[in-house]
Amino acid sequence: MEKRPFSELGLSPEILKAVDKMGFEEASPIQTAVIPFGMAGRDVVGQSATGSGKTAAFAIPAIEKVDVRLRKVQVLVLCPTRELAVQVSEEFGKLAFFKKGLMEVPIYGGQSYERQFRALAAGAQVVIGTPGRVMDHMERGTLQLDALKVIVLDEADRMLDMGFRDDIEHILKSVPTERQCLFFSATMPRLIQELIKRYTRNPEWVRIEAHAANAPQVDQVYYEVDRRNKIELLTRLIDLHDFRFGIIFCSTKVMVDELDDHLHARGYATDRLHGDITQAQRTRVMEKFRRRGFEFLVATDVAARGLDVDDLEVVFNFDLPNDGEDYTHRIGRTGRAGKKGKAFTFVAGRELYKLQSMIHYARLNIRRERVPSMDEVEEAKGNVFVEKLRATLDEKKFRSHDQMIDRLLEQGYTSTDIASALIHLMQTDGNEPAKAPPTKPKAERIAANENYTPAPVAAKAERSLPPRAAPVPPVRSSQPESTRPYITPSAPAAARPAGAKPAYERKPRTGREPGFTPLSFNIGRVHLVTPADLVGKIAGVTRLPANIVGAIDIHEDYTHVDVATEHVEAVVAKLAGIRVKSQSLKVSLVSPDAK
Ligand code: ADP
Ligand code: MG
Repeated sequence: MEKRPFSELGLSPEILKAVDKMGFEEASPIQTAVIPFGMAGRDVVGQSATGSGKTAAFAIPAIEKVDVRLRKVQVLVLCPTRELAVQVSEEFGKLAFFKKGLMEVPIYGGQSYERQFRALAAGAQVVIGTPGRVMDHMERGTLQLDALKVIVLDEADRMLDMGFRDDIEHILKSVPTERQCLFFSATMPRLIQELIKRYTRNPEWVRIEAHAANAPQVDQVYYEVDRRNKIELLTRLIDLHDFRFGIIFCSTKVMVDELDDHLHARGYATDRLHGDITQAQRTRVMEKFRRRGFEFLVATDVAARGLDVDDLEVVFNFDLPNDGEDYTHRIGRTGRAGKKGKAFTFVAGRELYKLQSMIHYARLNIRRERVPSMDEVEEAKGNVFVEKLRATLDEKKFRSHDQMIDRLLEQGYTSTDIASALIHLMQTDGNEPAKAPPTKPKAERIAANENYTPAPVAAKAERSLPPRAAPVPPVRSSQPESTRPYITPSAPAAARPAGAKPAYERKPRTGREPGFTPLSFNIGRVHLVTPADLVGKIAGVTRLPANIVGAIDIHEDYTHVDVATEHVEAVVAKLAGIRVKSQSLKVSLVSPDAK
């Protein structure tokens, strides 16, 4: 399918300036096809892959139709989720940047009616909303559609899947008949075709095949893996490829929570999205993710539906999606705009058959690969380090330390030994020799992986995954538990780049540091708990930096943990009932006279 410059599509100077400002060089195939029909007032049914630019395909002609002097709703976009509504609204905002007086407003459940009502009353001409909330506003009389010119159904198949059929039909019936209808759907099941027949007039069908040139460039691989080794495989792949930005899909909310906690405790910067998370929180998470405020988003399909994030390096199907279509939706978030992305799918046990049938029916192009060994991970990390070093040398991005080096050389050390010693120091942070990986921030978090033993997962991982290269010895394990430093340098919590004081510098006894309050946990030596377990759990569950945990003193069947006084309440509340080492935690304040 051809692509044309926007300037050939009969658009206003305001829109041309806006697409230029957005950095779009030319219209994508779906845009090239849809925009002229949209401009001519025709109804359109559009079908194309995720990431092919459908939003601008309908938003551009819709914006061109708006009369900004008329402060009434003229464009209504229905979409399946609040996230998508917000995104589409943002895209409208950007595209209409130079069209003065145009106001768009997203309306969706979970946000107060009052606020949405105010935006509507202020005269928004473009409303982007989920069908349920749009219906509500129509019934309350806060959304009037008598001046509507364009109605858009974005991801119509999704909306039907989500049970919005009645709402959609009701809305379509209540809008003026002299309106233009732009209809987008990835698939065209019978129900959709019926809707199209009933509510569009002589529509122009535009279908862009997802062949090589348009298809997002995604390298797709699947791994057969034992369910309990999935986390291990996940972290290996992340480390092997040095990924910094991706989404990890799980099939349930519970799995999302669990995986997010695990990854967090292992030192990865993660956050989560699923249906039980409040709207305010979701919006925060999404914004933070887009700004790359953390590395990996753990999410369910519904929560991440339509989420548009640029430059995603990777999508993990930690759990298999329901069908080929969901698969395509998920992986469509990587490899956008001609960039190459990666998609990894994990299949456990019988899921293999399901995947094979998906591959067959949806003609997916996924190849099988062997689970990478720990040695390969190590080697890859070494390569990354050498590359970084080379770049630093080539670009001369460093201050020279000639004097210091000369002094060492004069004392008879060779330059190669000096360099090796430096690398060693970087790897170990100047502590116990551990065969830790080379790059620094990454090294810390890998080390965390190696040492982290979440009860069943890592322990059993040994069985079917190749042995790890460097089992890290517990630091100073010869000392009795209650007097050794609470956390090993490479323990999970220490890996978090929270600006925390390294955990191993902490003082050994609890209840002595100012600003800290000792708490008692009903878990101790008999439960085989380690300081790393506790710090990992506390940081993971509260999502606070590891440095809120001070000294840890493990006793026979209880443990005293110093916690930054300001966070004591949160720790007590959030940790209660959490399972550590099969023990349901009880947390209480240590009475002042206890030692
Ligand atoms: P879809 O709705 O088809 O899944 P989107 O409309 O969400 O796709 O667009 C995907 C991404 O591509 C967005 O980040 C969007 O800004 C970008 N995009 C859209 N059109 C173009 C274009 N003509 N050139 C470059 N990038 C574009
Ligand atoms: Mg879209």
